[in-house]
Amino acid sequence: MKFTILFVLFFINSLIYAQNIQYARALVDTLCSSYFDGRGYYNNGENRAAEFIKSEYKKIGLQSVNNNYFQHFKFATSSIKGDLLLQLENTILQPGIDYLIAPSSPSYSKKSKVIHLKKSELIDIEIFKETIPLLRNKFVVIDQSLVKNESNKVKNLVREIIYFLKFSPDIELNGVIELIEGKLTFSASQLKAMRPHIIILKNKVSHLLKKIILKTENQFDTNYQSQNIIGYIEGEIKDKYIYITGHYDHLGRMGNSVYFPGANDNASGIAMLLNLAKEFSSEKKPKYTLVFICFGSEEIGLVGSKYYTENPLLPLKNIQFLINLDILGTGDDGIQVVNGKVHKKDFDYLVNTNNSKNLLKQVKIRGKACNSDHCFFSEKGVPSFFIYTLGGIAHYHNIYDKSETLPLTEYEDLFILLKYFIVNKE
Ligand SMILES: [Zn+2]
Repeated sequence: MKFTILFVLFFINSLIYAQNIQYARALVDTLCSSYFDGRGYYNNGENRAAEFIKSEYKKIGLQSVNNNYFQHFKFATSSIKGDLLLQLENTILQPGIDYLIAPSSPSYSKKSKVIHLKKSELIDIEIFKETIPLLRNKFVVIDQSLVKNESNKVKNLVREIIYFLKFSPDIELNGVIELIEGKLTFSASQLKAMRPHIIILKNKVSHLLKKIILKTENQFDTNYQSQNIIGYIEGEIKDKYIYITGHYDHLGRMGNSVYFPGANDNASGIAMLLNLAKEFSSEKKPKYTLVFICFGSEEIGLVGSKYYTENPLLPLKNIQFLINLDILGTGDDGIQVVNGKVHKKDFDYLVNTNNSKNLLKQVKIRGKACNSDHCFFSEKGVPSFFIYTLGGIAHYHNIYDKSETLPLTEYEDLFILLKYFIVNKE
C-alpha cells in the first residue's frame, strides 16, 4: 500500500514537472519568435513582449499593485534600422554573422577609402595623435588582435581611442572599423555617435582592404517609453515581501534582416519567473507576499530596475529577500549565486537543500557584482541574490542565442530549489 501511494506521488510529481518544462519551453519559444523582434526598441518589440507578459500575469491570476501591472519610464535609445549593406571591395558581408553595426552609429550611405592603423599607433597616444590628420574622409581600421597580448592598460587605451574616433566632433573621419577574433557581441546604446562603428570578424577582412561601401540607418528616439511589469500573490504576512525578478527585454534588431532572440538572456529567466508565479498561485497562501517583477530595458544599462528602486511601488525596506533570475538556460555545471558571500546563511541554505535533494551539480558562490537587475536593490541594502546557470552552450548577445538550441538542461532542478528557498525563507 505504502509503495503504491509513493508511486502515485512520484507519478504526480513527474507530471507536474513535465508540465513545468512544457510551459517553460512554450514561453521561451514565444518570446524568441520574430513577432517580438528580439524584445528591443526599434519596431516596438519590447513593448509587444510586455503586453504578452501582462496577459500571462492575468491568466495566472497575479494581482496588480496599481491596477495596470505596468510601471512606465522613459529614456533615449539609438537603434539601427532599414536595409543594411557592407561591401568590402567586391564582397558583400552578412550582417549578424560576419559583422555588427554598433547601435550608436548614425545613418551613413557612401563609398569610403580605408586606412589601417599600425600597432605602434594604437599603443602610444602621442604616435596616435600624429595619425589623426591622415584619417580625413576615410574609415579607420583598428585590429584588436594587434594588442591581444598587451596589458589591460593598453587594451583600455585602444577602447578609449575607438570612443574618441566615434564621438569626437573635432576630427574629420568617416567611421571606425574594429576587427575582432572569436565571437561578435551586440549591445544597446542610449547615445548616438558622430560616425558609424562597424565590428567585423578579422578573418573576413584582407589587410589589403582599400575601399568599403556602407549603408546603415539610425533611429534615435529621445523619448522612448518602456515599462516594468509588476504583479503579486498575497502572503500570510501581507506587508513583508519576497521579490522574484528578471528582465524581459533583449537587444532587439539590427536593421530589417537581423534580430537577437535572447533565449538564454533572458527568456529563460522570465519563463522561470512565470512558472514560479503559476505554481504559487495554485497553492495555499505563501508565508510572505510574493512580488514578481519583469524589468524592461536591462540591456541598455539596468534602466528599469534602477527606476523601480528610485520609485518603488512597495517599501523596499519590507523586502525579506530578492531573487533575480537572468540566464537560466543550461546548468550542466550548476548555478552561480552572485551575493552568495554577502548573505552566507541564505547561500548555505541553497547548498544544503541542493545536496539533500540531489538537484544541481553545484551551487557556486560569488561576491558582489553589479551585472544584472539585483544591483540597485543590493546597493540600497535589499538582501538579494542573482542566480544564473553555468556550463553548456554559451551564446551571448548574438544571433545564435535562440530557443531551438537552448537546452533548459537543469530547469526543473532549479525550479525545485527555488521553490524550497521561497517556501522556507525565514
Ligand atoms: Zn540578461
